[in-house]
Amino acid sequence: SPAAVEMPFQAEVQQVLSLVINSLYANQEVFLRELVSNASDALDKARFLALTRKDVTEQEGEPAISIKLDDEARTIVIEDNGIGMTRDEVVQNLGTIAKSGSLEFLKSHAEELRRAQDKDAAVKLIGQFGVGFYAAFMVAARVDVETLSMLPGAEAVLWRSAGAGSFTVAAGERKHPGTTITLHLKEDTREYTKAWRIKEIIRKYSDFVHFPISVNGEVANRKAALWTLPKSQITEEQHAEFFRHVTGGYEGETPLWHLHVSIDAPVQFHALLYVPEKAPPDLFQRDRRAVRLYAKRVLIVEDCDKVAPIYLRFLRGVVDSEDLSLNVSREMLQEDKALKQIEAQITKQVLKGLKELSESEPERFAKFWKEFGKVLKEGVSVDWKNKDTIADLCRFGSMNTPEDQLLSLKQYVAAMPESQKEIYYLTGTSRRALEKSPHIEAFKKRGYDVLLMTEPVDEWVVQSLTEYDKRRLRSIAHGDIDLGDKDEKADELAGEQIKSAVSAVKSTLGDRVKDVRASRRLTDSASCLVAAEGDLGVNMERIMRMMGE
Ligand code: ADP
Ligand code: MG
Repeated sequence: SPAAVEMPFQAEVQQVLSLVINSLYANQEVFLRELVSNASDALDKARFLALTRKDVTEQEGEPAISIKLDDEARTIVIEDNGIGMTRDEVVQNLGTIAKSGSLEFLKSHAEELRRAQDKDAAVKLIGQFGVGFYAAFMVAARVDVETLSMLPGAEAVLWRSAGAGSFTVAAGERKHPGTTITLHLKEDTREYTKAWRIKEIIRKYSDFVHFPISVNGEVANRKAALWTLPKSQITEEQHAEFFRHVTGGYEGETPLWHLHVSIDAPVQFHALLYVPEKAPPDLFQRDRRAVRLYAKRVLIVEDCDKVAPIYLRFLRGVVDSEDLSLNVSREMLQEDKALKQIEAQITKQVLKGLKELSESEPERFAKFWKEFGKVLKEGVSVDWKNKDTIADLCRFGSMNTPEDQLLSLKQYVAAMPESQKEIYYLTGTSRRALEKSPHIEAFKKRGYDVLLMTEPVDEWVVQSLTEYDKRRLRSIAHGDIDLGDKDEKADELAGEQIKSAVSAVKSTLGDRVKDVRASRRLTDSASCLVAAEGDLGVNMERIMRMMGE
């Protein structure tokens, strides 16, 4: 067989490697979670490939993950009969970091991570950003990866590295598709060749991997597809564990909220969905979704964007349906009727669940809103069918509410004095600026509250939500608002004076303004700028500028 070829790691890999090794030494044991989860992914992919292509090499035996420990040789061998890798894939997957977004993120947090007192946060980052494989070098002085791809014509490859600077690639000897990873342990890592210790780690992180994981021949995990069990049989602790499993979350992290749906009609599916406690850093990248889609317990899409609308992209978890074909490709999913029904059902159930949460546990809902409200609000403008339900969930600051509290539209309406007929709001860049706005004065005097909307997305909300509970939403910065307190006599008297004042101002300002009008809205200030009805609001202008319009 041809001699080994030596190749350098991409420079970034080296950086990530030292980052992983230096920031995680207190949490070494996660190396196993990372390798087991890669093996489990490889088995999922193999199942899918075997069902969708005729020309691939068949798996030998039942899908399984085997771990063998050798105390004397100080090695751990983790083997799977999954999809395997071709030579090019090995070089690409284990020699570079393909997800450059992740890398950028890690780099920008490198200093923080290095100094991190909070080891859990570091572990979490590394789990989330898919540099998992390199965790092997926390415990191993050398790693050998021998692999054979299921793809037709593939040859076995042996990848080797001591984690410093370079790796070698040579021909391997594997006869059946799959991957064997051998860790040659460092001096002080003896505990990892003890079966009880490895089993303990597996139960902690990998209990719900749905393939058997054996340790020296004995199965060590529970394997249950949690989402198929009756709701009442699943404990909070199991939810937390499963949540960590599907998100690569860190020890001790719990979901903020979960929803378990199992229905048979009009479409059969199970969904086990979670909302994390904190918004992930990539939440605003609109293409990042993280719900796994299974068809009859086989993973078909790892990050499906078709099971929930874009404004619910904070959901994490699993959807599994008997009504989906295994043969369906990503492109075909677009048109899949069953999937459309699943999405509609999930949307309905999630919104209903959140509504219930807002009523039964307003504090927990407030936490949710703080992290994900900005995203959920997008729904008002993109989902006409559920607009009103989403509007009910929306929370806003207002002139009459303390800064740290938010109001629902329902609460706003309930507090309206009888004379007030419409819902008033003002959009802008900060609460501080809005509070100083001269537009507010007249409303304050009359005891009318004004919603203060300070997020760019609010501009979209008010463009789409023209009415709530049959009351118009009106921007107090737009056009003329009739506050309904005409004083005819005073009008007549002041009429002439005002006319001449207005024309004087008009001729001074000229083309710089559309119009100059007398207003009843000011009490303390002499004048203010208003946008014409139909003009873009301040935030909308900000958004357009950001998009380079
Ligand atoms: P991630 O799992 O987030 O993609 P990893 O660093 O854990 O990142 O793994 C990098 C890539 O290496 C995986 O995406 C996969 O393509 C490949 N890989 C790792 N382990 C295996 C394995 N046991 N079988 C097949 N491919 C693997
Ligand atoms: Mg991984």
